Amino acid sequence: CGIIARIGPDEAIPRVLTGLENLEYRGYDSAGVALQNGSGVSVVKCSGKVNDLKERVDGTHLDGNIGIGHTRWSTHGAPTDENAHPHTNEDGDIAVVHNGIIENHQSLRDKLEETGVRFRSDTDTEVIPHLLDHYYDADTDPHTAFVEAIQQLEGSFAVAAIFDDEDAVFAARRGSPLVMGLGEDQYFLASDVPAFLEYTDEVVYFEDGDVATVRPDGVDITTLEGEPVDREIDTVDWNP
Ligand code: GLU
Repeated sequence: CGIIARIGPDEAIPRVLTGLENLEYRGYDSAGVALQNGSGVSVVKCSGKVNDLKERVDGTHLDGNIGIGHTRWSTHGAPTDENAHPHTNEDGDIAVVHNGIIENHQSLRDKLEETGVRFRSDTDTEVIPHLLDHYYDADTDPHTAFVEAIQQLEGSFAVAAIFDDEDAVFAARRGSPLVMGLGEDQYFLASDVPAFLEYTDEVVYFEDGDVATVRPDGVDITTLEGEPVDREIDTVDWNP
């Protein structure tokens, strides 16, 4: 029910976990994080509270500066560890968090399974990392694969994805909220402003159909058709 991503110079996971705690008010049954550290993607996730997730993260070495996180309010699949986000492709080098509902998940799943893909969860979300894997091949780049995958989705979504071989977070929204926070030297993406308010009050509200590519040194926003879009930077007045 909440997503967050953080791109910046130092450790991402502590800030992603803080962001998830700040989104706890939205309600959730599971939580998880994924990290891109230049050489791979690592995922830690479980049903239960962000505190349970923190205990699991404590036992691991999640060092890296690009991270995504999720608190889940199950719509498709029970609140289990396997169904918690982030979800990955079979090789585990692409990770995705998603809020909302993919209405055509069954037909996408059927098609992917016909090509030999094995699913590990009962969620509607898991089609997304497998679609990304499907479109990301020798002839494309992660951004192109991301746009092609998003174009297949019907329903409502705020999505953030990371690839092991690209220093970026790819995000898109339709019908679910997504906002970007611009810190001095770091970027956040989140379902709602409180996720990152202690780090910045400069925000960009995405509109339906926006696709954002957030890199350590800048942000690119386009439509799903690839047309560049300009979004205003707002300053949040949290104590009016
Ligand atoms: N439909 C997805 C699921 O059941 C996402 C739910 C959410 O927005 O948290 O996993």
